[in-house]
Amino acid sequence: MSASFDVLVIGAGPGGYVAAIRAAQLGLRVGLVDDFLGKDGKPAFGGTCLNVGCIPSKALLDSSRQFHNLTHTFKDHGISASGAAIDVPTMIARKDKVVKQMTGGITQLLKHNKVTTFAGRGKLLKDRQVEVTGHDGTVSVLDATNVILAAGSVPIAIPGVVFDHEYVLDNASALDLSAVPARFGVIGAGVIGCEMGSVWSRLGSKVTILEAMPEFLAAVDPDCSKLAFREFKKQGLDIRLGAKVQSATVVDGEVQVRYLDAKGEEQLLVVDKLLCAVGRRAASAGLLAEDCGVKLDARGRVEVDDHLRTSVPGVYGIGDLVAGPMLAHKASEEGVMVAELIAGHAVHLNHDTIPWVIYTEPEVAWVGKTEPELKAAGVPYKIGTFPFAALGRAHAMNETAGLIKIIAHADTDRLLGVHMVGANVSEMIGECVVAMEFHGSAEDLARIVHAHPTLSEGIHEAALAVDKRALHRAN
Ligand code: FAD
Ligand code: NAD
Repeated sequence: MSASFDVLVIGAGPGGYVAAIRAAQLGLRVGLVDDFLGKDGKPAFGGTCLNVGCIPSKALLDSSRQFHNLTHTFKDHGISASGAAIDVPTMIARKDKVVKQMTGGITQLLKHNKVTTFAGRGKLLKDRQVEVTGHDGTVSVLDATNVILAAGSVPIAIPGVVFDHEYVLDNASALDLSAVPARFGVIGAGVIGCEMGSVWSRLGSKVTILEAMPEFLAAVDPDCSKLAFREFKKQGLDIRLGAKVQSATVVDGEVQVRYLDAKGEEQLLVVDKLLCAVGRRAASAGLLAEDCGVKLDARGRVEVDDHLRTSVPGVYGIGDLVAGPMLAHKASEEGVMVAELIAGHAVHLNHDTIPWVIYTEPEVAWVGKTEPELKAAGVPYKIGTFPFAALGRAHAMNETAGLIKIIAHADTDRLLGVHMVGANVSEMIGECVVAMEFHGSAEDLARIVHAHPTLSEGIHEAALAVDKRALHRAN
């Protein structure tokens, strides 16, 4: 079989499927190849994000949060419940239903936009031809004027730790446990480690997280990472920094994890389930024929320029497969950008204002530069902070752990970074992204009227605090 497309996309994650939809909206003839099979064995578009990433992890975070509130915080409101129990298979089934609704929705959107889909593995050949190997082994070759590589990323394994998906888990198998493990271990106190550690801790597991680095969440502004660390510890997460894992062995239904602690002494941790979440790498293996001409960088990512063009004219790379933060919204916006570029539009994507969110409790969210980054770059700055504990709404909600920190240029007052820990900061960061995208200043945020009582008043107060004139705290 042979077919010809204006645009052929390999990978239907939030990068690829969004690129396909946008290209189709622009009147291009679009094909989309994806190899993901859902739990029912059928093709499921949406990639890592919808199938085994953002959406299912947030579904479990929400279920576990409700259970934790029922068993821990409702009593503060005078609400009592007896016999609270968690039925893990029901929780997992709800998560699966959410995933199916979302992936089914993508299939409908692709149909509606007349995107031709192919279930199987795609491989870029030379001259923008793509070989597709279907799940039944049949091989076909498609031709395209433009190819968008959007194959995403896969979890990294570390020496001495082998995923068996029963005891030693990756991000996908950690979403499918059938019972609450008494002892849940995690290698890597990164985004997945903190989110999935929180899920099982809230449901009753004793969670231990082994982190190789001496600092916690090194990419997060230190004021926020310190606060988050304190709160996670209070919740019972045992986070051990400077822990270098040597091996993980399954013995009699338990996982024995051997590691060197911060002092270099050998330690043994025994858990019932072990999640290894030490980062992800670009899924470039098997994606490119040797003579296709696309270059990879030293980390196996597809090399692209500012306009996401690879070394081969007409071939683009987006999302986790290329450099930059591994985030769904970054992948999607790059997908839109490339589709519009192919259609002849002027394009622009500001990578400096991509927000990050960690969906723990409290949540962590930020946009722009951290204080250490600005110090290292020699940029003069001023800071305003405001604690959640000084917000009426935070008290009303029983959510007083949190902080908002605004960093502005010392001379121009332009916003350089906003960092938050606290309830609902995943939603609140949006206001700061808009302000930064519009080249706003701390003064702009300080002059905007914020509704009372809301948590967003903390943004207003932190902006006022940049000039030492916060109203509801001593400056
Ligand atoms: P992917 O989503 O990885 O999609 C790539 C697709 O291509 C997959 O379906 C893959 O099977 C397919 N594919 C790969 N190779 C081939 C091939 N040769 N042929 C055909 N198909 C191929 N990001 C956020 O922004 N917010 C979150 O809350 C969040 N939570 C996460 C939670 C977890 C547990 C994980 C693992 C990730 C999370 N992420 C989150 C990151 C997010 O999932 C990724 O950044 C995003 O999915 C990247 O999108 P993508 O389109 O580049 O690739
Ligand atoms: P990560 O990069 O966030 O964290 C990995 C952690 O593992 C780091 O702290 C690292 O120092 C540590 N580490 C590395 N090697 C180690 C070792 N040998 N022993 C112990 N610790 C080690 O990676 P992740 O948590 O696997 O997530 C992958 C990516 O997926 C994230 O970087 C993010 O881009 C994306 N993601 C995003 C979200 C979100 O947006 N809320 C959620 C989950 C995942």
